[in-house]
Amino acid sequence: MVSNEAQRLQKYLAAMGVASRRACEELTAAGRVRVNGRTVTEPGTKVTPGADQVEVDGRLLQDAPRLRYILLNKPTGYICSAADEKGRRTVLDLLDGVEERVFPVGRLDYDTSGLLLLTNDGELTNRLLHPSHQVEKTYLALVEKEPDRQGLEHLRRGVLLEDGLTAPAEVRCRRSRGGEIWVELTIHEGRNRQVRRMLAAVGCPVLRLKRIRLAGLELAGLQPGRWRELTPEETARLKAL
Ligand code: URA
Repeated sequence: MVSNEAQRLQKYLAAMGVASRRACEELTAAGRVRVNGRTVTEPGTKVTPGADQVEVDGRLLQDAPRLRYILLNKPTGYICSAADEKGRRTVLDLLDGVEERVFPVGRLDYDTSGLLLLTNDGELTNRLLHPSHQVEKTYLALVEKEPDRQGLEHLRRGVLLEDGLTAPAEVRCRRSRGGEIWVELTIHEGRNRQVRRMLAAVGCPVLRLKRIRLAGLELAGLQPGRWRELTPEETARLKAL
């Protein structure tokens, strides 16, 4: 959402979806922007959303900000909140060119990589995170050793963790050509460090963890650290879930 704090004009214009910050600076310099009825050409001018009336080419900006739906391939070494008391990098640092204030839909651990959805659509976020919607999340975990028959059975039926029994999961094991053992685990819950704890509980500590799918969305060639906007079809599918 666009913040209600006073902010630089070009930042506000960009957050309202007028154009990129750079293009908004040009619009301003060209005298196409008015604040409270006065033409403003100084890009550093501060405006307060909700209090100041801002017009571009005579059109008053009062609509909701542009809704953004962003799919990021999160690298390890980034946290999923807006700020960190330890000064660690956050996933928002990776969203070059995104002016709106988006937030992650659920979290991935600092040391987990893979698919992360970020948006400023609070309604969709609430729906996707609500347990009743049973949104599917698929992870690939590199493990030291393959779960045995009993371990697989536990994962499929439910594992008893300190915060209760997990819901049934889908599990498949794969061995890479180099002999690495990967467990593909699909769950519908979103408990803290759930996949790591589930696999540890069946004697298979996770060495590396990556999310490869969320609610039908896939990374499909997106490199670590890069993001893309969802396609209109993907957005429509999410909203129809
Ligand atoms: N489960 C985990 O253990 N870690 C994550 O980041 C996501 C799911």
